[in-house]
Amino acid sequence: MDHVVVVGAGLAGVRSIEALRARGFTGRITLIGEEHHRPYDRPPLSKAVLLGGTDSTVVDSDLDALDVRLCLGTAAKGLRDGVLETTEGELEYDGLVIATGAAPIRLRGEGRQHVLRTIEDALALRERLVPGARVAVVGAGWIGAEVATAAARAGCAVTVVEAGESPLAVALGPEVGSHTIGWYARAGVELRLGAMVGTVDADGLTLISGARVPADVVVTGVGVRPAVDWLKGSAVRLDDGVVVDEHLRTSLSNVVAVGDCANWWSRRFRTRLRVEHWDTALQAPDTAVATLLGEEAVYDPVPYFWSEQFGHMVQFAGHREAGDRVLLRGDPRTDAKWAVCWLTAEDRLAAVLTVDRPRDVVQGRRIVEGGQRLDPRRVADPAVPLRDC
Ligand code: FAD
Repeated sequence: MDHVVVVGAGLAGVRSIEALRARGFTGRITLIGEEHHRPYDRPPLSKAVLLGGTDSTVVDSDLDALDVRLCLGTAAKGLRDGVLETTEGELEYDGLVIATGAAPIRLRGEGRQHVLRTIEDALALRERLVPGARVAVVGAGWIGAEVATAAARAGCAVTVVEAGESPLAVALGPEVGSHTIGWYARAGVELRLGAMVGTVDADGLTLISGARVPADVVVTGVGVRPAVDWLKGSAVRLDDGVVVDEHLRTSLSNVVAVGDCANWWSRRFRTRLRVEHWDTALQAPDTAVATLLGEEAVYDPVPYFWSEQFGHMVQFAGHREAGDRVLLRGDPRTDAKWAVCWLTAEDRLAAVLTVDRPRDVVQGRRIVEGGQRLDPRRVADPAVPLRDC
């Protein structure tokens, strides 16, 4: 293999390059990125950048030392066997890494709506988070909650409009998500649940019910879609992202996919997973690159992520299913720190969510990995370390 092309200059793209060189690949590497920036981290965009703590989150990686040809401001348009089509012409490859991430979903309507995916998005939004500004955030998911946190701290009058019956209902289920409702009120944020947005207008939102939410600034945080439209019509199979096996191999030979755009087969959970979180973009490239170089490697992690919202460090590890039993560790109404465990029918830990209890998430992730059985009565006692349950 002489020439590897990496498409997507985000975290998964840059990690793929580092992994190639770390595994001894000495051939040519080309990085194709639609944005005009060197790869940067996105988690700080909704935290330190919005709060005014920093303007740059460039990933600490020496691309010059890694001997990479950088093609920034260049988008991939299509793929044939061995040939990548880009806005700047065609490029032949021997191996290809797809790392094009995901793009935010936008709502209908003529009014201006901010989304939060790029550094430009974050800087443009930050400028408008001024004291007294009426800010309507659509969606009480991870991004919506972090934006509401930053806007409230900036002195804005914040309303969060959520279609579900609780915040984080999609990620955690409505029962667990409801334990975060009090955080909104304590931060002075109005939370409207069960409210579906019809359109974004010049002066705010119109809900499907006809009710209006007046706002100077609208931020849409209703999720993302994998950025894979450029692969339509190619031999790469798509289904909620790029379909890859447990080796992160696509349906086209010598092509692998990683990060937010990859929908992989999880041996551990016996299901397909597409995880839009930082740790996946960080770790998966090592397996993908090993596969590309003809080595035997399997990607089978216990997914992990974190979120910082309303002064809380929220962490999650594992994969929960609808039928799992939910056990609380601590009382979210009275305890500052609490956690939730999801147990399978055989009392194995499927997933753990922690609020300001970092030890639980570290131990919980190991327990999910090990697959051992737990005693549910001990799990429900927050005084017992998870590893002793
Ligand atoms: P991306 O970072 O999206 O990079 C993909 C790159 O590919 C982009 O630069 C894009 O422009 C480029 N691209 C797309 N299409 C093309 C094309 N056709 N041709 C060329 N280039 C293309 N995760 C956590 O675990 N915890 C957090 O607290 C957290 N906070 C977040 C906050 C924000 C505001 C955002 C947006 C994400 C957050 N995440 C968080 C998620 C995490 O940042 C992502 O999972 C991670 O960035 C995914 O990396 P990636 O390289 O797969 O994709």
